[in-house]
Amino acid sequence: MPNWEGSDRKETLPPDWEKRRLRVLRRDRYRCQHVRYDTGRKCAAFANQVDHINDREDHDERNLQSLCEWHHLRKSGSQGGTAAAEARQAREASSKPRHPGLRP
Ligand SMILES: [Zn+2]
Repeated sequence: MPNWEGSDRKETLPPDWEKRRLRVLRRDRYRCQHVRYDTGRKCAAFANQVDHINDREDHDERNLQSLCEWHHLRKSGSQGGTAAAEARQAREASSKPRHPGLRP
């Protein structure tokens, strides 16, 4: 059985978190700030999540960034295999459905 005693997952957010959150989202123009591994560019998808860049206890706006739901899930979930997962997502996004007129 895994022992979770050492991992402190509880997040303590400041009372004005909601205000900070909105400020960060506005600052980033509601665009995901995650830099993609495959393109080296920002994801720029619609962002409605605010994430701690480094220290989870540091709620300074400089330590906060806007993320889309997908990247927020990626980050808060397992940190491993992110590059591989992104490459896969990019491939799936670029493989457009075939033109209906080209069906055999
Ligand atoms: Zn994103």
